[in-house]
Amino acid sequence: MSPSKLLSEMPLHRSICSKLEIFAEAPTNSYLFYGPSGGGKMELARVFATSLLCPDGGCGSCTTCKGVLSGNHPDFSFETSSNRRISVDDARALVRKAHLSPNSSHRRVVMIDEFDNFSDVAPIMLKTIEEPPLTTVFIIVVGELSPSIATIVSRCVTIEVPRAEDDDLTSFLQFKYSIDPHRARDLIDAAERDLDVIVEMLSDENFERRISIWENIYSSRGGSQSLLGRTKAVMDFLDDIVAQVIERRDSELSKLKEMQSKGSPPKGVVKEVEDRYARIVRFRRRSEIELGARFLLERLKKEAFSNISDQLYANIAYEQIVATISNLLSQLRFGSDEQMIVAQLIEVGVKKSPF
Ligand SMILES: [Zn+2]
Repeated sequence: MSPSKLLSEMPLHRSICSKLEIFAEAPTNSYLFYGPSGGGKMELARVFATSLLCPDGGCGSCTTCKGVLSGNHPDFSFETSSNRRISVDDARALVRKAHLSPNSSHRRVVMIDEFDNFSDVAPIMLKTIEEPPLTTVFIIVVGELSPSIATIVSRCVTIEVPRAEDDDLTSFLQFKYSIDPHRARDLIDAAERDLDVIVEMLSDENFERRISIWENIYSSRGGSQSLLGRTKAVMDFLDDIVAQVIERRDSELSKLKEMQSKGSPPKGVVKEVEDRYARIVRFRRRSEIELGARFLLERLKKEAFSNISDQLYANIAYEQIVATISNLLSQLRFGSDEQMIVAQLIEVGVKKSPF
């Protein structure tokens, strides 16, 4: 089989990928990926699955690879407990799937995410994971190797996936999202190297709508809407932007608390989820204010160079505005009051044009 293109080109966790390339040549029954959230274990596990099913060892471009990466291929079963509790029936269905012959590939891959939450039903799957049919490979993904899954762990080849290094993450973001290194650094710092948080931060919804809201905030200079009214409109808009994130946080937390009342998962998990969402919310709000500032700068730049005939003077005037706004944004980054910064930004935007 040819070497996996996807694994060899993966910029994250190079040394682990080299190991996976070797495993893919003669795979054993069951693999278990473990490590902290946001380390990239799911990305690696999925790419590993393509290398097991693709006729070219994980080319990344055939229908098999695309199917596996999007979770839609007849020989690839993906189970997760992220939104529900796994019942005995679910576990039995999974065992039946593992015993089916492959459909179009030469083997079948059964991938189970958040296996930590399967511990109640793990005994049902134990024998199959230990000795699956020759054509089936299990890929199990867990946060940590807790004692409740010790028996399963002992049956698998374990692969530890820690948080990625900054340089790896920067290359990954350039490779997968074409993000320039400077912005990548900014994202990595804000997300504290948590890849899940970075991906969440990148989902940039309704860009056009957001721009038009900012346009409106600064518009009709000297109009009826007071500075206070405009500031409040921005604060409401920021709440609106993070509302969905908060909704997701709450549903994840209530699910965790329900599980905790039944004895799992470990206590630290709730705090980890709270911290992760707090970072996403802070970043989303800050990014939005930065977007509003960039929009304002663009507009003032146009005004300066069209209203002032002396280009040198226009440049000096514009540089002053840039300095004022950059200063506001750096205060925001260092934790100054959000509302105060927004008010000052709007003041720059709506006061009589300096040009
Ligand atoms: Zn392929």
